[in-house]
Amino acid sequence: MDSDILVSRTRTITTAQGATGYLRIDLAALGRNYRKLVSMLTPVRAGAVVKADAYGLGAERVASTLYGEGCRHFFVAQFVEAVRLRPTLANDAQIFVLNGLQPGNEIACAERGIVPVLNSLAQWRQWSATARMLKRCLPAVLQFDTGMSRLGFPREERAELAAALGDGSNVEILFIMSHLASADDMESDQNGEQCAEMSCIADEFPGFDLSFANSGAVFLGDAYHGVLARPGIALYGGAPNAGANNPMEPVVSLTVAVVQTRTVPAGTKVGYGGAYVTQREMRLATIAAGYADGLPRSLGDRGAVYFNGTRLPIVGRVSMDSVTVDVSALPEGALTLGSLVEVLGPSQTLEDIARDAGTISYEILTGLGDRYDRQYR
Ligand SMILES: *Cc1c(COP(=O)(O)O)cnc(C)c1O
Repeated sequence: MDSDILVSRTRTITTAQGATGYLRIDLAALGRNYRKLVSMLTPVRAGAVVKADAYGLGAERVASTLYGEGCRHFFVAQFVEAVRLRPTLANDAQIFVLNGLQPGNEIACAERGIVPVLNSLAQWRQWSATARMLKRCLPAVLQFDTGMSRLGFPREERAELAAALGDGSNVEILFIMSHLASADDMESDQNGEQCAEMSCIADEFPGFDLSFANSGAVFLGDAYHGVLARPGIALYGGAPNAGANNPMEPVVSLTVAVVQTRTVPAGTKVGYGGAYVTQREMRLATIAAGYADGLPRSLGDRGAVYFNGTRLPIVGRVSMDSVTVDVSALPEGALTLGSLVEVLGPSQTLEDIARDAGTISYEILTGLGDRYDRQYR
């Protein structure tokens, strides 16, 4: 036991002193974001989407925090994520596998009390055969495709499904659901179209509870709420609706250490391919995060990091483990070996960096690597 303590202390000391990047995850802010969504949804319940390791933030820490806030419905994408998360959560929490029931997982799924989201008749038959074999009633969720052509029962399978349900079975349907393709765009016609299709489905499958809204749809109004919402990105501080003000609180901040500085004359090539050539004397700093740490290569010559609010443009290509930035705007000597610059924080939001990288906040979050020292507050 003593040696355990020693090991963990040593680890803390070495990472805290020597880390080249600090990823801070504010669990209190996560809790406030959840409460904000709950207050917008009440009496509709708010679940939480914690797939892809809770969008890169750590599914166990995130799910435990949200459980503490009263969340009891947790959505992952893959069966393996549900298996990993199951021991963290008490039995009154349910874990749903959005990508559906994969052949070979049926027994393990049933035995671990994981709830599959059934997306097709084939999956429905497999799950009900499993229930018969185990001589048990097994829970499931039914997902319908309302216009995304990604997952869920297609329209052609609905009649047969309705008949199968009518025949009585040993599968207990907890609720039915669908997913919106364009909920982040409040102006999109697709929202109304999918909502109309969902009401047809509700008529064809009367008596079932409905889950529809992701983060964006929480802000589209009651028609989209069903009885259980499934927010993801908004919990983690991402903007639920593109172009609108972000009502959520930031959860993640990232600072990265300077590993070298130099001053170079005009005409100096910087980085791989010599793709950037200085036009004037320039002070440069190389910081210890690259595309392997989740800074997309598309940030090359486009993105920036910040120091005390001053923008430091990325020059040249993003390397695997580092990027080089122009620090000429800072007083000489402001940055030295070990100084920390801001990648995500008060000067640069997730949306800012995603825009510069030509991507979305989701991809930035889920890409954040595991070489940072992660600090949960
Ligand atoms: C990822 C996902 C969500 C969460 O979406 P956000 O836009 O992050 O809120 C909800 N439902 C389904 C089916 C999903 O795949």
